[in-house]
Amino acid sequence: MVELKTEQSIEAMREAGRVVAQALTAARKAAAVGVSLLELDAAAHAVIREAGATSPFLGYKPHFAPTPFPAVLCASVNDAIVHGIPDSYRLRDGDLVSLDCGATLDGWVGDSAISFIVGRPRPEDARLIETAERALAAGIAAAVVGNRIGDIAHAIGTVCRQEKYGVPEDFGGHGIGRQMHEDPGVPNEGRPGRGMPLRPGMVLAIEPMVTAGGRDDYHAAPDGWTLRTNDGSRAAHAEHTVAITKDGPRILTAL
Ligand code: MG
Ligand code: MG
Repeated sequence: MVELKTEQSIEAMREAGRVVAQALTAARKAAAVGVSLLELDAAAHAVIREAGATSPFLGYKPHFAPTPFPAVLCASVNDAIVHGIPDSYRLRDGDLVSLDCGATLDGWVGDSAISFIVGRPRPEDARLIETAERALAAGIAAAVVGNRIGDIAHAIGTVCRQEKYGVPEDFGGHGIGRQMHEDPGVPNEGRPGRGMPLRPGMVLAIEPMVTAGGRDDYHAAPDGWTLRTNDGSRAAHAEHTVAITKDGPRILTAL
């Protein structure tokens, strides 16, 4: 069931989303060659705590997970697509890092992800990240009343496939509100004009993922959480929480 949010609820979600943006900004600022993923997590956690928010990631245990998630960030490096667990790994020059973060404030959840390069970027990594961001922008632009879920999915998939990148199968965005994952699902590929009609008050986490090798398959690492590309190619991820309003899409996880 899709819950439509009131204008007041969307304002409350905007405040949760702002905390997410601030936490991601702090983690990105902390990222440098030699810094560990645990240090990035600590930087994000400090922001969430100081804002009086909590983390919907910490202790999260969906059906596929062997253990509760132990951190406030997902930190996915190089061939890790999503759901990487921050650990003592120290960042190296040229690493492609994707950070995914959530915050719960006054009972409302925000969810956002960024990808960036530590140190000197390889041009092919910069292009991968730029494509994930452009796919996100295209998905957001399609998140308007009168369109359907399939129009968002089609907009995202078109950008990714134009670049011959892979789109990880069975993963995508989701409705969001008092829970991090609500209906409807928002696939990263689909047919225009299909699926649920978009209505004012729907709030969606839109989150394209792309893989450089062009393949859509992946596997879980031994930790049971981290998803890695099967061909070892690098991946990028970008995400915003977006409200559909009569005045157009509104990004709730901007700074
Ligand atoms: Mg996320
Ligand atoms: Mg999400």
